Amino acid sequence: MRRLVDLEFTHRYLDELPADPERRNETRLVGDACYSYVEPTRVAAPRLLAWSDLLATELELKKPAAASARDPDVEILAGNARGRGMQPWAARYGGHQFGHWADQLGDGRAISLGELTTTAGRRFELQLKGAGRTPYSRHADGRAVLRSSLREFLCSEAMHGLGVPTTRALSLVATGEPVIRDMFYDGNPRAEPGAIVCRVAPSFVRFGNFELHAVRGEHETLRKLADFVIRHHYPSIEGDDPRRYALWFEEICARTAVMIAHWMRVGFVHGVMNTDNMSILGLTIDYGPYGWLETWDPLWTPNTTDASGRRYAYARQPQIGAWNLARLASALRSLVDDETLLQAGLERYAATFEATHSAMLARKLGVGAVDVDTDAAWLDELYELLAASDADLPVFFRELSRRLAPEPESFESLLEDACAVLPAPTLLQRWHAWFDAHEARVRRGDVGDREVRRRAMDLDNPLYLPRNYLTHQAIEALEQGDATLLERLLELLRNPYRAVRGAEIFAARRPAWARDKAGCSALSCSS
Ligand code: AMP
Ligand code: MG
Repeated sequence: MRRLVDLEFTHRYLDELPADPERRNETRLVGDACYSYVEPTRVAAPRLLAWSDLLATELELKKPAAASARDPDVEILAGNARGRGMQPWAARYGGHQFGHWADQLGDGRAISLGELTTTAGRRFELQLKGAGRTPYSRHADGRAVLRSSLREFLCSEAMHGLGVPTTRALSLVATGEPVIRDMFYDGNPRAEPGAIVCRVAPSFVRFGNFELHAVRGEHETLRKLADFVIRHHYPSIEGDDPRRYALWFEEICARTAVMIAHWMRVGFVHGVMNTDNMSILGLTIDYGPYGWLETWDPLWTPNTTDASGRRYAYARQPQIGAWNLARLASALRSLVDDETLLQAGLERYAATFEATHSAMLARKLGVGAVDVDTDAAWLDELYELLAASDADLPVFFRELSRRLAPEPESFESLLEDACAVLPAPTLLQRWHAWFDAHEARVRRGDVGDREVRRRAMDLDNPLYLPRNYLTHQAIEALEQGDATLLERLLELLRNPYRAVRGAEIFAARRPAWARDKAGCSALSCSS
């Protein structure tokens, strides 16, 4: 096992792509370049608050021996020291925010340090979020508060455990410095503890990197960045294939479709699907006011800033994915002679999403297949009943597999667990009919072994999720210096499909008090 301080870091992004020649770390519009050199701003008293053992094992890293700055690795993770070969940078990108072109955004508080290489030769970029101002910080401070950093740290690792493509998080470090935030946007700013997350991914390039080059007419740089991403991250696409940019776009479309199908499967709502928050690798990125659909409300969003438009609500995510890909397609237009090839990519998105989503839904329900046309009425009835019964979705879906057990659980007992109160008799009648139809579908056609199907259901329906109210409790505890709950959640979420004795409370429906409490369901963008 290795220590960061002993490793030699590389930075292909810097070696192979054009830099901003200006070194002034001041807010400004940056010219034709992919990044600006920056230095993280020192912090007063770094302290390691959390560490992902799972990711560290994948990266072959040893946990820092001391939580304080006495350990040189903690200094690196706080931005106070540089490892060997590290050359920090902030990436330049733009983006469409809430449907409107926002022009230059860029890494305003994220600073990449370099790449480490595993013994198997895989490279991972390490990036500090909340490490200080950059030329892209605009009017903001370059910092992040503990609560939003804990949310990003925990959810990155939880999504990985859930089997959802995502950027990862290695560490959560307290800065020992206050950060001023107006959490409710009500004119009452207060000082909160600051923190830095070390994020890890093969690359943090976003749709917005390409959009900004396209808008500025920087076609050479756009092509260089596309070649860079293809060369290092889409190696199956041949360098000399004349259709390579179109094939690459199609592959991005397919990956994005699979990612969003997973979001729908686990009930994840990203909350801010702006094109600067869309990874070119099809990874979930930039965890802000995200949440989990706990009761059926397709237009639910955890993001209070989006409460009136609900652009990024749960059920809209697939179509927003398509919209964002269409923005990327326009940005890549100068690379592709024949526009219909980009159209083919968007069609691939729709087809991949439909196929992946319906296969996942079939596995979640334990039925052989879901046909969106012939099963539509039955599915609509399910969603109506779930909403009318105020059923907890994760509990309902998880328990559904018990209907396939050798001694099936009664549907009433299943509903007792999923609903706060047993549904009224008229609803129960409808549920009865729905469960009969479910059983008929379970038996239909070549269904294979019922027991095999039951086990498969439990691998698609998570038992544990970092529900916002649980994460909120972990934040409140950590702000008081107690990391026990965070560590417990991290441990359970390493494999959220496997039941752990004594952890029942973490699999239960959200308590009534948490339903409308700030931070426990909906959140502002303040971070
Ligand atoms: P987000 O909504 O988190 O994706 O951020 C949108 C843009 O605002 C990105 O360019 C961020 O880097 C920037 N940004 C967000 N918060 C801060 C902050 N506290 N300091 C500097 N830039 C920020
Ligand atoms: Mg962002």
